[in-house]
Amino acid sequence: MPIYEYKCNECGQVFEELVSASSTESPKCADCKSPDTVKLLSACCKSASASSGSGSYAPPIEGCGPSGFS
Ligand SMILES: [Zn+2]
Repeated sequence: MPIYEYKCNECGQVFEELVSASSTESPKCADCKSPDTVKLLSACCKSASASSGSGSYAPPIEGCGPSGFS
């Protein structure tokens, strides 16, 4: 199962969560248990770079990664 990063809109806590592929619900905050959490885009970079393998060029995803992160 992939690990996604989530950010809590309630307290700003960022945490990682194992999420099954069939699950569409955001997990509750690990700190304050608020259900108001959003998936961070940074998680897609990890999975993209890990699955791209060698020899195949994967274009960077706009707004995702250290250079595009603001
Ligand atoms: Zn929280």
